[in-house]
Amino acid sequence: MDIEEFRRAGYQAIDRICDMYYAMQDSKRPVVSQAEPGYLRQALPASPPEKGEDYALIADDYQKLIVPGLTLWQHPSFFAYFPTASTFEAILGDLYATSVPNPGFNWSCSPASTELEAVVMDWSAQMLGLDPAFYNTSGVGGGVLQTTASDSALVAIVAARARYTSLHPSVALEDLVVYTTTQTHSLGAKAALVLGLACRSLPVKAEENFALRGEILKVALKEDHAKGKRPFVLVATVGTTSSGAVDRIDEIGAVVSEVPGMWMHVDAAWAGIALACPEYREFCQLDAINTYADSFCTNFHKWGLVNFDASTLWVRNRKHLTDALDITPEFLRTKHGDAGTVIDYRNWHLALGRRFRSLKVWFVLRGYGVEGFRTYIRRSIGLNETFADLVRGSSVLELVTTPSLALSVIRVSPSISKMSAQELNVLNRVFWSRVSSRPEIYLTQTDLNGVFCVRFAVGSLMTTEEHIKQAFNILTEEAEEALRLYHS
Ligand code: PLP
Repeated sequence: MDIEEFRRAGYQAIDRICDMYYAMQDSKRPVVSQAEPGYLRQALPASPPEKGEDYALIADDYQKLIVPGLTLWQHPSFFAYFPTASTFEAILGDLYATSVPNPGFNWSCSPASTELEAVVMDWSAQMLGLDPAFYNTSGVGGGVLQTTASDSALVAIVAARARYTSLHPSVALEDLVVYTTTQTHSLGAKAALVLGLACRSLPVKAEENFALRGEILKVALKEDHAKGKRPFVLVATVGTTSSGAVDRIDEIGAVVSEVPGMWMHVDAAWAGIALACPEYREFCQLDAINTYADSFCTNFHKWGLVNFDASTLWVRNRKHLTDALDITPEFLRTKHGDAGTVIDYRNWHLALGRRFRSLKVWFVLRGYGVEGFRTYIRRSIGLNETFADLVRGSSVLELVTTPSLALSVIRVSPSISKMSAQELNVLNRVFWSRVSSRPEIYLTQTDLNGVFCVRFAVGSLMTTEEHIKQAFNILTEEAEEALRLYHS
């Protein structure tokens, strides 16, 4: 393809992407791909073409073969998992980024890439109300873009381990323990698995809204210290995946700060963006985060209007990251790196090369402004409140937990007959299997301390009150049908 062919193909691609976004606004269009497993292998040749093919054929096959296999995460009736952001500003930012691929590992690879990242991380920190100690301009703390919250947690735990073992050089690696809770995303356990470390998941209670409390942590620490174990990092969560629970960062932060060298990483992959709105800062425990967190992560690619991937990680002291991750062979040395006058982001994450992610973040921060973020977040939360109100007035559905920001957790709850917890779970699994076979909405299920329930997470930019009502009506229909089937 030459430059002019690229120009024409590019216009066509943008046209087709726009058509897809228009088509998604049709609420009857399936959210979930209807493809069967293996559909694509059947449709594609067994081997790559011997000779290059005409681009028009490739572009048409994208429409014909790939698009039907896409579940539409930006669809207005997508209420599953957590939202995955998509804005046209971010798409364009990514297009420019990919047009100048550079692996941005050292400042000198492309100064714009590193410098923009350092700036947008500071802008984002300001927008979220993080303490200036986390800004890159502080020269001590700082922010870096990672691929995912899982990578952010892994990197934070690597840094935590380096700090802990430097303070306690005689500690045996097999005695180190990563603390999570039963509600922490699997990223905590996965990081421990990757690092070959033990992981202990602390209990949380339904009556305490699934938040980790200081007392539970204290008891666990006492038990582990008595056994010679060394819990060195706690992965706390602001906005858990299952129910949007917020750990008591104030209490647990105070406890962690009493243990020499122990680190608290706050995973706010989804909820962290709500900190853009001053009215949600207390709920998300911003003051305690600013006081106690050693590292803090939120995903702009979830609720933060930036296309995947854009996980923002801030650390209170960058030295712990670079102590853990800086390996500089001769071929990676540069004048500015040696002089210590620039950030070399390769020492702030696991890989060497890194994408120019800051460009799309910059486009979005400028295109929306802080006000635009606030309007969007408030809108998502308002729509979830509408949904929660509908559930409150329902005779067949109930809220399992207090709605958290833009997430509600529901289940079928028949008011007429008394059912055991086990029978209720069976009923709700019937309900769930019916809901998950409806292509026009998409929700996901979870388990909260043995209670099977269904999550409803709002976040698509295209969702309106009509979509919320449509979803509620479908859920009501399926709840009534599940009850009828259960009793028949
Ligand atoms: N943390 C929380 C609270 C989440 O809900 C999720 C995903 O939904 C993650 C972490 C994982 O995010 P990532 O895919 O960026 O690793």
